[in-house]
Amino acid sequence: MKTKTSLAGRSSQELQELLAPLGFKAFQVKQLMTWIYQKNVSEFSAMTDLSQALRDKLDKEFSLHELSIARKVSSRDGTTKLLLQAGDGQQVESVVITAPGRLTACISSQAGCRLACAFCATGKMGLVRNLEASEIVDQLCLLQELSPEHRITNVVFMGMGEPMENYDQALKAARIINSHQGFNLGARHITISTSGLVPGILRLMEEPEQFKLAISLNAADDKVRSRLMPINKKYPLKSMLEAVKKYSNKKGKLVFFEYILLEGINDSLEDAENLSRLLKNIPGKVNLITYNPGGREETLQPSSVEARRAFYDKLCQLGVAVTFRASKGQDIKAACGQLKAASVS
Ligand code: SF4
Repeated sequence: MKTKTSLAGRSSQELQELLAPLGFKAFQVKQLMTWIYQKNVSEFSAMTDLSQALRDKLDKEFSLHELSIARKVSSRDGTTKLLLQAGDGQQVESVVITAPGRLTACISSQAGCRLACAFCATGKMGLVRNLEASEIVDQLCLLQELSPEHRITNVVFMGMGEPMENYDQALKAARIINSHQGFNLGARHITISTSGLVPGILRLMEEPEQFKLAISLNAADDKVRSRLMPINKKYPLKSMLEAVKKYSNKKGKLVFFEYILLEGINDSLEDAENLSRLLKNIPGKVNLITYNPGGREETLQPSSVEARRAFYDKLCQLGVAVTFRASKGQDIKAACGQLKAASVS
């Protein structure tokens, strides 16, 4: 059976091309985009400023969403995670995280990932396939439908996959999210997170948009980082941070460094000192994260509360801009890839 082509997650140009044969005029495509991206309706019948005839045609020829919800779990702390299924049966995860004044959507760019980071559940699966831009944006549409009262304020490409391994589709998705006719979210509220792929960082630097860049750093020396993140062997700290510095200088923006604290691996005061030295002269901010166990390397454990506090205090003392982020949704396996891993284990 032929599955219907879906419309949510597509650019203005794609929608014009898909809908022109049905007699849609440009202004009607614009109306449809408002329903999809601004009003987040879940069915064509709710698009009441389109004629009944057009809505009937849409219903007959197209589906609204590309992805369907296979599972939804909500945490006590307000985090909700979706396990979403694509037309070919592949599953990806997306999370919406509530915080005072913010609603952050964390979306996936690949089904699985080939980079095999030791602390990551997705890394255990290997790469299944890249997601299309429409599948990336549709995650956001479905997450927004969960929160009709509150608009999503931030989007982070920190779910399953390495966005820079799927650069063209991830960038296209970020542009649809950013565009006036799309989700209309400012580029400064869209964060592309990478494990440090130098060519991708340099390419993003040349794009006109001011997307935020986050680096999954997790270690201040090559030996530890290569153990935790094998991609470090290809792009060691020195070359990766040179690219980051160029990005920051060209864009005039802070770069965010994610650092998961792991007991006995990267959480000593000496590690904090090394980190401070490493990031000297790079305008950035360090985000310390509590480890949510379930990664590829089973022996990894979160640092103790005392070690986390001491690490944070040391960085503050050394003048490093640092925040501490508690890992959200621990009771629902909210870390990247954990729900999918649980569904296949
Ligand atoms: S942390 Fe990111 S880059 Fe590393 S394996 Fe997981 S999904 Fe891939």
